[in-house]
Amino acid sequence: MSVRNHASRNETDVAIIGGGLVGMSLAYGLLRQGKRVTVFDEGDQALRASRGNFGLVWVQGKGDTCPEYAQLSRLSAHLWPELAASLQQDTGIDIELQQRGGLYVCLDQQSLQQRAKMLAKMQQDAGGDYPFEVLSVEQAREKEPALGPDIAGATWSPMDGHLNPLLLFRALHQAFELHGGTLINGKPVQHIKPQQTGGFEIQLDNHSLKAGKVILAAGLGNKALAPQLGLHAPVEPNRGQVLITERLKPFISYPTGHVRQTGEGTVQLGDSKEDVGLDTGTTADELGKIAARAIRMYPVLKKVRLIRSWGALRVMTPDGYPIYQQSALYPGAYVVTCHSGVTLGAVHAGPLVDWLLGRDIDISLEAFSADRFPF
Ligand SMILES: Cc1cc2nc3c(=O)[nH]c(=O)nc-3n(C[C@H](O)[C@H](O)[C@H](O)COP(=O)(O)OP(=O)(O)OC[C@H]3O[C@@H](n4cnc5c(N)ncnc54)[C@H](O)[C@@H]3O)c2cc1C
Repeated sequence: MSVRNHASRNETDVAIIGGGLVGMSLAYGLLRQGKRVTVFDEGDQALRASRGNFGLVWVQGKGDTCPEYAQLSRLSAHLWPELAASLQQDTGIDIELQQRGGLYVCLDQQSLQQRAKMLAKMQQDAGGDYPFEVLSVEQAREKEPALGPDIAGATWSPMDGHLNPLLLFRALHQAFELHGGTLINGKPVQHIKPQQTGGFEIQLDNHSLKAGKVILAAGLGNKALAPQLGLHAPVEPNRGQVLITERLKPFISYPTGHVRQTGEGTVQLGDSKEDVGLDTGTTADELGKIAARAIRMYPVLKKVRLIRSWGALRVMTPDGYPIYQQSALYPGAYVVTCHSGVTLGAVHAGPLVDWLLGRDIDISLEAFSADRFPF
């Protein structure tokens, strides 16, 4: 076990369980509000979606069956420039945030029509304020000349973007240290005891820490921890496999749901959705499908070399939407989990921190209570 920054080792305002993107975004927001924050993380052997994701700050189509989620995703995209600037100011790290819009490429007419219908409905739910366009093959290729002729079309939205998730992860951790956060790393937390006088005791081997509030942000680990605090976090793993090409000259202007070119020039191809338990491996079959789809979208990819692939586990609730909930039994204990921790990072570091601190916020989080799932 390693402890970084001993300043507040035995007592803290807020203990966060989980040092992935969700926990670290919350931690950064809380530190910026002057709180003492201790993050407990299992360490590098952990299952960690935060180091295997696709880096999209994506809005179009998100929350098609939950307008509150659509609103939340959009709010977060809106708040991202401020968060990226703040991280850069604190750490000097440019997380390569680009929000020039995004394309969702459809390979057959039926999926294009379904998508157009879904986005039109979302636009209606948003009172008309939900910008998107449905593009024919020609219009899509005009916008993105590298797209091939063998697509059915695309939808485009100015709300979408992407960033470098590894740089984001590094920036959050560096900023955490710079703001005086304490990281206790290397062992899973197994016991959290609500105290009779209020607050919580987090127990780890022969070390314990008292915290005014505790936030479960442990990704897949939330499921086992939540019942100790009268909370419910029915999350399950869902594997995504991703491929990376060699570095290429910039030829893709907009990220798509399945292909994006990174700041270094590599092209990231993704990503499968597989129900395979805790298996983080890769398979030739899925990687082959991912590569074939990407080549159909961008024929130039046929000639490039692949240099890396990986599998990582999404943190999925039964309906795919987040859980943001305070314990009714033990006020001051919260669960925060979602499957789009990049996109929602700016909401987590901003308005969600205000909610955790008991302040009024402009958004309603009622839709994200875990009470919507059976116990
Ligand atoms: C293939 C793939 C592509 C994705 N693409 C995108 C995308 O384009 N855009 C987007 O917004 N999101 C994307 N995501 C999702 C995004 O990566 C996750 O939402 C985000 O990383 C979740 O972060 P997290 O902190 O909740 O979980 P994790 O990153 O899994 O971190 C959980 C942390 O909790 C710690 N932990 C667990 N149990 C304990 C315990 N008992 N005690 C102490 N610590 C514990 C672990 O050590 C770990 O560090 C993708 C995910 C995958 C897998």
